[in-house]
Amino acid sequence: MTANIIDGKAFASGLRGRIGALVPAFVARAGRAPGLAVVLVGDDPASQVYVRSKHKATVEAGMQSFEHRLPADTSAQALLALVADLNADTCVDGILVQLPLPPHIDDKAVLAAIDPAKDVDGFHVVNAGKLAVGEQALVPCTPLGSLMLLKDVLGDLAGLHAVVIGRSNIVGKPMAQLLLQQSCTVTIAHSRTRDLPAIVRLADIVVAAVGRAEMVRGDWIKQGATVIDVGINRVPANEPGQTRLVGDVAYDECTQVAGAITPVPGGVGPMTIACLLRNTLVAAHHRAGLAAPVGL
Ligand code: NDP
Repeated sequence: MTANIIDGKAFASGLRGRIGALVPAFVARAGRAPGLAVVLVGDDPASQVYVRSKHKATVEAGMQSFEHRLPADTSAQALLALVADLNADTCVDGILVQLPLPPHIDDKAVLAAIDPAKDVDGFHVVNAGKLAVGEQALVPCTPLGSLMLLKDVLGDLAGLHAVVIGRSNIVGKPMAQLLLQQSCTVTIAHSRTRDLPAIVRLADIVVAAVGRAEMVRGDWIKQGATVIDVGINRVPANEPGQTRLVGDVAYDECTQVAGAITPVPGGVGPMTIACLLRNTLVAAHHRAGLAAPVGL
């Protein structure tokens, strides 16, 4: 058996197109474009790439992009003051503070300072709590995008056994909540889990969000299971001095067994930015007192 390769890049491109097509109707009713503010502190190269991509995608969707680049020695007070200004700015619907922050800044305090209605990353405890109790919330983008791919491949997820490997607040925990909302039977595995391969072998759905290159092996996967690889790991390539990206899943092995699988790159990664635009459009509608578009 060779797995169906889930084309996250194509799905994300379609989603971004649908979002962009909805923006003019919002502009006509609200009298302004949805606005996303992205704050980058310091000069971490990976974060710079992410912020550039987010800016480009925001503008392409017809939204306003507000970029704030601050030096690495910015004080916590100065960053909190900027967040307060963005909270008060009526043109800003979404605020994203790019993580990681420099070590002298408490990221929890910064995330807590963001207005939950503008928390398009879905990391604020108010949004995490709403997700946990099943209320309408802004949901973290990577798990939301992963769920969209799963529903696209499998349709109804009810009754399926999902094993989520990883319990971070950004990916693992919200992913598990979303799958539970879909009536999956959910197991959350982590670094202290005993006999992980045996647990993964029970799964109809495997979501790997660990940060360990190719940890999930082909003989862990049940025949026909759907595998979502969230991991992004840079490893040495065959050519000296070069690197390449791999996921948390041993892709070549798992494609022989799985029913469907996301590649890295080109799987979950592109969904994250598409869902950021989706959350910004939804937040903009709520803030303008308009019903959020359905089917996004
Ligand atoms: P974290 O480091 O915050 O969490 C990793 C999780 O993996 C932890 O819960 C940890 O367990 C668990 N873990 C570590 N080692 C093992 C092990 N040997 N067996 C089982 N579980 C283990 O990472 P994130 O959740 O932030 O990210 C996970 C991956 O996803 C990374 O590769 C990251 O780059 C990628 N990512 C990709 C995104 C995208 O857009 N595609 C967006 C966000 C992240 P414990 O809690 O016990 O320590």
